[in-house]
Amino acid sequence: MIHSPGLQSAQPLRASPEPAPAIELDGHHIAYTLLRTRRRRTISLLIDERGLRVAAPLKAPQRAIDDLLREHAAWVIRKVRDWQQKRPPPRLWIAGESLMLFGASVTLEAHTGIVLPQLEQNRLLFNPQLAPPAIESGVRGWLKQQALSYFTDRCTDFSAQLELPAPAVRLSNARTRWGSCHAGGRIRMNWRLVQTPPAWIAYVAAHEVAHLRQMNHSPAFWHTVAALVPDYAERRSALRRDAHRFLLL
Ligand SMILES: [Zn+2]
Repeated sequence: MIHSPGLQSAQPLRASPEPAPAIELDGHHIAYTLLRTRRRRTISLLIDERGLRVAAPLKAPQRAIDDLLREHAAWVIRKVRDWQQKRPPPRLWIAGESLMLFGASVTLEAHTGIVLPQLEQNRLLFNPQLAPPAIESGVRGWLKQQALSYFTDRCTDFSAQLELPAPAVRLSNARTRWGSCHAGGRIRMNWRLVQTPPAWIAYVAAHEVAHLRQMNHSPAFWHTVAALVPDYAERRSALRRDAHRFLLL
């Protein structure tokens, strides 16, 4: 399993249907996302690419959440300010915007006669009659198709090198991890990896395929990864250092 950097390792979180909560802290209006989960026992605060997120047990009283936010007011204000300064402008899904595909920039372009998104060199063409929400879902679907086909090929190649049967590869939508491997030969890889350079994707594929042989992170496991991707350590640090920005899509 490969956790993404820049995030506290958290339980899988489900957004609650409540309206976006907020609190006044020392004159600052701080909005946050509240995530209540059954399994959680304590309240925790984290800042990720989407801003301040509060994870709480299902029945934690609002007062306890407010108390924790007040107790950490200075940290919260500073972190939210940093996040506001660093975050990129929201994506509008219009012509001229760019996105990343296999580590290269691709520009969205309206093109008459196009039904489904279509890649032509560094341009991703879409139907000009579509409204942005339809462009967004079309492009996301297209990216996921590219992801699944590419990831499956990488995992199939690596498993053949280890003389293992080809695993069943699925996409994941996790915000906290890049890949995971399950007993029984199922591999899940985060579709957002399709934005990253092929070298990073290969590292994640090699890592998960190596788990088909070693369900741990023992020296034998890393030896298997190195047999597939000799410079895996460099790729792993690049992924840890830079990949969090790809979680925004
Ligand atoms: Zn692992």
